[in-house]
Amino acid sequence: MRRPFMAGNWKMNKTPDEAAALAKALRRELADAGDVTVAICPPYVSIAAVRGELSGSDIALGAQDVHWEPSGAYTGAVSAGMLAGAGCKYVIVGHSERRQHFGETDETVSRRLKAALGAGLKPIMCLGETLEEREKGVTEDVVGRQFSLGTDGVGAADFAKVTMAYEPVWAIGTGRTATPAQAQEVHAFLRGLIGEKYGRKIADGIIIQYGGSVKPENVKDIMAQEDVDGALVGGASLQADVFAKIVKF
Ligand code: PEP
Repeated sequence: MRRPFMAGNWKMNKTPDEAAALAKALRRELADAGDVTVAICPPYVSIAAVRGELSGSDIALGAQDVHWEPSGAYTGAVSAGMLAGAGCKYVIVGHSERRQHFGETDETVSRRLKAALGAGLKPIMCLGETLEEREKGVTEDVVGRQFSLGTDGVGAADFAKVTMAYEPVWAIGTGRTATPAQAQEVHAFLRGLIGEKYGRKIADGIIIQYGGSVKPENVKDIMAQEDVDGALVGGASLQADVFAKIVKF
């Protein structure tokens, strides 16, 4: 039995003061969340403020991206060691918005994944097809390639610490959700790939989140799917009461 894992990706939203207020409200809303893992990923500059509000709570802190080098002349970048030192437990890697707007490739996803694992962070590795790819019928090819290249050089013991997030690009921030059956189909396919690469036991234990316009109204049906173990939530994680409803699906 896999413990559900709900993560909020705040993207480029909330100043440090606003982020602290949201974290405080969330802590109150989630005091009785029950048997579910929860993490929130604010922008870098708000990590310290959110950490202060979450101290002593069960809500974990994560970041939205990480550079693969430990330090050096990489203006604007943040390393895995810095995130760990700032109190992060999780880090999102390979989000489609990073792939789309910031030149993220499968190769750099793999480098970031390994750097995160090396610093003791738990990566949330995102993958998913565009609308064009889905309509062409190549969803499995795309997800298969992203998984295989993104995890290149990652051993089984390390991979066991990774959370996967299937996020069809056409469902992110669009209000369009994959149907529960569409999500289940890709999740089962992905779990099969994980089994081929890392063995059945690891595949059975890996959390695979679904992401793409998850809301209180659709979370229950999505979570009812056998291979859907959680959600990566963007827009709906920016209001404490709404995200709390998702967490308590
Ligand atoms: C995301 O940011 O990963 C995401 C799924 O966004 P949204 O929930 O807004 O579609």
